[in-house]
Order: sequence, then structure tokens, then C-alpha cells
Amino acid sequence: MPTPRPAPPDTSVTSGAPATSSTPTWHERHGRYPRADSVADFKHNLAAVRERIAAACRRAGRDPGEVRLLPVSKTFDAAHLRLAYAAGCRQLGENKVQEAQCKWEALADLADLRGSVIGHLQTNKARRVARFASEFQALDSLRLAEALDRRLQAEGRGLDVFVQINTSGEASKYGLAPQEAAAFLRALPAFGALRVRGLMTLALFSAEAARVRACFALLRQLRDLLRQDAPAGIGLDELSMGMSGDFEIAIEEGATVVRIGQAIFGARTLPDSHYWPTNGVP
Ligand SMILES: *Cc1c(COP(=O)(O)O)cnc(C)c1O
Repeated sequence: MPTPRPAPPDTSVTSGAPATSSTPTWHERHGRYPRADSVADFKHNLAAVRERIAAACRRAGRDPGEVRLLPVSKTFDAAHLRLAYAAGCRQLGENKVQEAQCKWEALADLADLRGSVIGHLQTNKARRVARFASEFQALDSLRLAEALDRRLQAEGRGLDVFVQINTSGEASKYGLAPQEAAAFLRALPAFGALRVRGLMTLALFSAEAARVRACFALLRQLRDLLRQDAPAGIGLDELSMGMSGDFEIAIEEGATVVRIGQAIFGARTLPDSHYWPTNGVP
């Protein structure tokens, strides 16, 4: 993979704050995050990420208490999740539900560990999420909403959900088109077990900071628009956006949840094409 050049200074930001305008993406570090193999490694990486979150909040004039760090443990084994727990993590995100279920079952003794499913879900796997997850961030169809609701009602549970929006326009990314979101939200109150918390997106995977920022800004603007006539009971306070390579830009654009894997757990050995249908442009 060619190493992208550092992003040029971004002159087209929507936030208009000069201090934040040149925040780069870190996708070029991809594959170079050191592996965490001890509680001390996890504590160190978590502290470094929290410091970067705090610095991004300072630049944006935000309170770091508004930004939840969701560590993403996909591809790492249960033993590493246990180390993350020992370092203080109480909620972990997984992209694939089968993998999540295996690991969470192995960690069932950690009573206060909660699981978040952040990746695309096939309707026939809704039962697993309804049973094992405390949060689902990739709701993108009414068929899935219906299947989740039915399974949750049977389990007597509720589930926090985020509606995934495709802000990059890439065919390879899951999520609703922005213009589909309003009608989608109007249909959700029918599914009483789903507690809608907000929107989620994956930005363009790019070293061009301005193009990444545009994805995050679009999600925030969409949220602000949708909030004006959201149905009763549909919460739109949360914006889940930003990962290891771009979370600082996401925070500058209003993220309330950042989903961070590699900067905490270390580089993954599997390529991202294992998780997303194709890689984005570098
Ligand atoms: C893997 C993943 C992340 C975290 O990516 P990192 O590069 O490991 O920080 C965030 N969101 C989703 C949906 C993911 O699948």
C-alpha cells in the first residue's frame, strides 16, 4: 500500500475555526499501532487516546465529558479483552456478531462488561444481538428494526440503537442515504424495544482531511435537521463518528461517541477489506 502524503492544510472547513482547520487524519499510521499485550499497555494506550480526545475538545471548545470512548476489540481474542477490562474498559465494540458472541460468552464472568455491535447485521442474526448486546450502532433497514424488536420483545429487553448513515456516498459503505433518514425515523416509534439514541457513520477512509471532515459535518447537519421534527421518543442526541485514524476531526465536528480500535488494542493483522466490502481510497 502506498504511504499517503500528509494531508494539505484544509481551507474548506465548515466549522470555521482556524485552530482546528489543519487537524490531519492518521490513516497513514494504519498498521503501525503497537500491540497491547498487558494491562499496563492498555492503560498507556487508553491514557494517550483520552489525552488526544481532551486536546481535540479543547480546540473545539467542548467538554471532554460529552465524548464517550468506545474501545473496539474486533479481531482480538478474549484474553486481550480481559486485559482491556482490567485496564478499566466496561463497554467494548465488535463489528461482527458471531465473533462478538463467542468472546462475550467467554467473558460472562465479567458481570458489568457491556457489548456494543457496531457493524452491519443480517436480519437472521438479530436474535444474537437481542440477547447479548447492550447497544447496536448499525441500524439501516426497517426489516432489521422489525426483526430486532420482535426478538427483544421476546427477551423482555430494550436496546440502544444508532441509525447508520452513509455520509461518504461510497457504494461499499453500509447505511441509509441521508435523504432516506427522515422517513426512516418516522417509522421507528412502531418498534418499542428500540431506544433510538442518534446517528452513526463511517467517514471516507482518506488522508485528505477536508473530505473526511465533510462526512462528519454532514452527519451533524443531518442530525440538527432531523431533530427539528423527530417523532416523540426518538432521541437524536448522539453522534457516533470517528475511529483511530480520524477521531479528532470527528470530535471537532461534534462526535459524542468515538469508536477506537487500533489506537488502543494495536494494529489488526486482518485487512479492513475483511470488515468492509472494499477498502476506501487512500
Ligand atoms: C473497526 C471499526 C472501528 C475502529 O477502527 P480502528 O481503525 O480500529 O480505530 C470503528 N467503527 C467500525 C464500524 C469498525 O468496524
